[in-house]
Amino acid sequence: MKWIKEELNRLKEGNLYRSLRALTSPQNKEITINGKKLINFSSNDYLGLAKEFHQECGKWGSGSGASRLVCGNFEIHEKLENKLAKLKKTESALLFPSGYMANVGVISTLAGEGDVIFSDELNHASIIDGCRLSKAKIIVYPHKDVDTLEHLLSRERKNYRRSLIVTDSVFSMDGDIAPLDKLFKLKNEYDSILIIDDAHATGVVGWSSFELFSLIPDETTIIIGTCGKALGTLGAFVCGSSLLREYLINKCRTFIYTTALPPFIACQTLKNLEKVPERMKKLQSNIEFFKNLTGINSQSAIFPFLVEDEKSALTLSRHLYENGFFVPAIRPPTVKKSRLRISITSEHTKEEMEQLYKLLNGD
Ligand SMILES: *Cc1c(COP(=O)(O)O)cnc(C)c1O
Repeated sequence: MKWIKEELNRLKEGNLYRSLRALTSPQNKEITINGKKLINFSSNDYLGLAKEFHQECGKWGSGSGASRLVCGNFEIHEKLENKLAKLKKTESALLFPSGYMANVGVISTLAGEGDVIFSDELNHASIIDGCRLSKAKIIVYPHKDVDTLEHLLSRERKNYRRSLIVTDSVFSMDGDIAPLDKLFKLKNEYDSILIIDDAHATGVVGWSSFELFSLIPDETTIIIGTCGKALGTLGAFVCGSSLLREYLINKCRTFIYTTALPPFIACQTLKNLEKVPERMKKLQSNIEFFKNLTGINSQSAIFPFLVEDEKSALTLSRHLYENGFFVPAIRPPTVKKSRLRISITSEHTKEEMEQLYKLLNGD
């Protein structure tokens, strides 16, 4: 196993080595690591809901006991699914234990040999893995470049049976938003299915990224949201037609062959949803404030602070840490260009955002 040590050493030399840090506090705006209190500008808990715990949900106990299709399907799962479908304006929704599993499962269930998938180059790793698992032809298009995508569709679409266009709505490392109106049009013109990953949009830019474009999902639109980010719990939901839901229940391997989300998590997610509208307003006003303060052009709660290289990302992150702020360095292969990824939440105060900005500028 010498090669493992050698590979790890290579990562260390390239400033690409990763290690875990353990929190001794609950997830919150302020966290404790190694006895040190830090203002947290790194979590996806955009609405500060991860720390919520509703006593009433305790009646469900801790586990689900089986997969949904065996005896792990609870009424509260379906109640949450109905609620989420309404929020995304689709006919139905299906819960998965995580967003990773939802993406991998949905993409590899809907596309196979003889099909084609058009995928934005900055899509999340779980989308990339879903594409690979599907055995379909994968065509990666330049980031948000709808003209090139149209060119590729006109050249390639006819050579394949089914076609999927897949994109993050809010991109997870840059915070920018895909041109969903144009993608929706291309989907219709080229007889394709549009799959939208709303992980960083749900509860941040609205209930759904489609609201930003006044779009209503139709039967060839699928929107995948996650509960682990703004909604503060765990799990994901695939929103689309009832026919799609029925098909996934019968065919999707990451739905069928895995233990259901514990019902107390579904219960807590329903409780958290009640708090979303008010906190989303606060979040959006914080985003506006931070955008004006820093001049970083983001359309979401994610603000990339680009730095020269891996080493400067680590150095700046350490400088912030020593001054009581937690913003980890994001490096290749997660991104091409190293950066600090700042995430703003509804819980941050103006003073905290100002302090962070000063530190970023070397004060
Ligand atoms: C976090 C994330 C996922 C995965 O969701 P999990 O529930 O954490 O597995 C999928 N897509 C995007 C864009 C994400 O940021």
